[in-house]
Amino acid sequence: MELKGNSNPSEKPGDAILFHVLQARNGCIAENISMHRFLTGCFGGAAGAYIGFRLTQALRARRDPPAPLPRDPAQYGRYRRARMLIELLLGHARRHAFVTGGGAAAMRRWLRTGHPAADAALSSAVLIVLGTLIDLPSDYTGGLLVERRYGLSAQSDAAWLADRAKATGVALALGPALAALLSLAQRRFPRGWPYLASAALLPLSLLANVVGPLYLAPLFNRYEPLQGALSDRLRALARRAGVTEAAIYRVDMSRQTEKANAFVTGLFGARRIVVGDTLLRDFDDDEILWVVAHELGHDVRRDVWRSLALALASGTLVIFAGRALAARAIARDAAGELGLHELEEPAAIPLLLHQMALVAGLLGPFVAAISREIEWGADRFARAALPGQEGAGVRALERLRERNLAEDEEPRWAELLFSSHPSLRARIAALRRAPPSQPR
Ligand SMILES: [Zn+2]
Repeated sequence: MELKGNSNPSEKPGDAILFHVLQARNGCIAENISMHRFLTGCFGGAAGAYIGFRLTQALRARRDPPAPLPRDPAQYGRYRRARMLIELLLGHARRHAFVTGGGAAAMRRWLRTGHPAADAALSSAVLIVLGTLIDLPSDYTGGLLVERRYGLSAQSDAAWLADRAKATGVALALGPALAALLSLAQRRFPRGWPYLASAALLPLSLLANVVGPLYLAPLFNRYEPLQGALSDRLRALARRAGVTEAAIYRVDMSRQTEKANAFVTGLFGARRIVVGDTLLRDFDDDEILWVVAHELGHDVRRDVWRSLALALASGTLVIFAGRALAARAIARDAAGELGLHELEEPAAIPLLLHQMALVAGLLGPFVAAISREIEWGADRFARAALPGQEGAGVRALERLRERNLAEDEEPRWAELLFSSHPSLRARIAALRRAPPSQPR
């Protein structure tokens, strides 16, 4: 559309909206309401409207289940990207509106126990439950229902809800305890707590990498050691590749998804190479062997440790930069709109988390780039571990593309900003380009 000087902005919908926004802004300023409040209203309104839209969609779908969609990877990819972007932006908008729209004052008024650490724990529990409930309609329609419509999930509503309840239970078991510890550290060490929090990242991550695979993952799925002829081939492959203590497990991934996948998980005695039942069901043995060789690559190359180091480095940056941004927001808040007296009080934790989420979002593309490099390394390892089997690798990636409705190539911006893996097209091309390796 051409943009010309238009005396009546209501003729073009975009201009009409801008016109009303400017009018509303002028109105606000005339009534001496700050820009802050105006933005808070816009952000809160947008987040609220989206939640309302998703809730209506969910209720309608419960009455009248939506029809299946054609298995079109491009359309599925566009939908997923659009949803992710919208929810990323609205998530920031929602937290911004909560923090600047009186969230701290409300927490201080309603969630009061008399002890700062208990206040922090209680606030954390309430926010976890509220957040889960608010996200439920969108997770249901944009997650489960869309996966079902594309034939990518056969999970029932009840099973899905049970998974959500368990995930919330895990968050409730961990979140409030961490919030209480943070609050205690802040009170005892008002200046030094970011150092303490950063130092705590290592033991917490180690614990998560041991407790997660052994005790949390089995809450959602059944893990059992892989048995049979295939597992013998996999173990022989592992021995040849110079590995490995890691046990090979099968997981009933089909409970949640029809997509095929495999992954490595855990540290120390909890190291596991996990293969989805969907992969075992839909792929032939040579293809599975190639996928497992890729995962063995992650294990041999100690990629869990690399990822951990990456998480520690970015986590430390997130803590310090988030604290600096939150402190600046409080210092600049002369009008007292945030309702905060200092950063080291439980009511300031949502502001802190909001700023930390912004920093983490900015770091995302760097983390994704490193992750893509790690994936290239695992592909190279698989090629070296399975000489002459490049064809099986190509077939495995093609089957992944078909089963998981993955795009050959995402738009460049999406890959650069978000993708943890290189595009399938590039990975397949690299395998095809590879000089035929010598059989050992
Ligand atoms: Zn990988």
